[in-house]
Amino acid sequence: MAKAAHNYLVTTKGLTKHYGTLVAVDNLNLKVKQGTIFGLLGPNGAGKTTTILMLLGLTEPTAGQAIIDGCDPTREPLKVKSRTGYLPDNVGFYQDMTGWENLRYTAELNGLPEDVAKERIARAVERVGLADAIDRKVGEYSRGMRQRLGIADLLVKDPPLIIMDEPTLGIDPEGVRELLALIKSLAREDGRTILVSSHLLHQVQEICDEVGIFVKGKMIACGTVDDLGRQLLQGKRFSLEVEAEPLDEELLNLCRSQRGVLELQQNGTRLLLFCSEDIRPQLTKEIIAAGYRLLHMTLRGYSLDEIYRRYFTKEEGKNGQAATATAKTARH
Ligand code: ATP
Repeated sequence: MAKAAHNYLVTTKGLTKHYGTLVAVDNLNLKVKQGTIFGLLGPNGAGKTTTILMLLGLTEPTAGQAIIDGCDPTREPLKVKSRTGYLPDNVGFYQDMTGWENLRYTAELNGLPEDVAKERIARAVERVGLADAIDRKVGEYSRGMRQRLGIADLLVKDPPLIIMDEPTLGIDPEGVRELLALIKSLAREDGRTILVSSHLLHQVQEICDEVGIFVKGKMIACGTVDDLGRQLLQGKRFSLEVEAEPLDEELLNLCRSQRGVLELQQNGTRLLLFCSEDIRPQLTKEIIAAGYRLLHMTLRGYSLDEIYRRYFTKEEGKNGQAATATAKTARH
């Protein structure tokens, strides 16, 4: 696969889309480094799909510009098409054709010579783990198998940029794990750039190098999960989950009074401490010295759920968007 001469495979400058008076995407400035996975996050209607459609050259921006691997999707749609693979949330295949026949058809459409097509299809099928099912009709495939066939389809096309819309939606946990590992390998092993739109935050956190948070057409924050956490959690770098018996007022006071503890929350029998440093050694010693039975203590890093929730809580005062976002987060 040809390497991009520049560091960023996707950039947008002031990218904007209006539908009548509605601003679906508002002045988006995005930079996605080559070979990385970037997550577009946001509630329904935030503008993720519209952004993707503009990147793919399937809808024209009202203002601004996108550049994909050096090409403008509006002016050079065919060039962009040949450099980009798109996996929609519901991949369309010919149901009465086998998986292999569908891939063969993609190879034909992309003008691949017979021998290249055969080799690419065989490798792609092996890589996505569909060898046993490839001669079955796609109409008989589960959603997870269809998604894997979708990735095989992209591998046949072999583009440097892959855009995925909610790739793991409706797939069981084991299937999700496999799919995420596969997506990750597309970036890490092949050096492809991946743009993934999702509201399944844990999954996004697991595979994305950077995320952009979208609210009402605006990208309100962008960076690594760690960066966003630092900006937003105001020094509360660590969260510590503690369970000890008996859970009384003195224990709460003991936790609160530790150096570095900035906030304490109680959730049933569990205490959640937000701290500026890792206080596990001192806290363990003090809890035991005070005669409590320590049942459990775990240090958690930044949680994207927490970051997401706080962003939308912050936005609530501004535009009343938080309720939707929080509800969406809470379901997963
Ligand atoms: P979802 O997760 O629900 O797909 P999204 O973040 O992808 O949401 P978009 O589909 O990009 O959001 O929609 C952004 C806004 O633009 C929404 O208010 C939507 O109703 C509006 N919109 C999208 N497409 C059109 C269209 N063709 N005509 C008019 N309005 C549109």
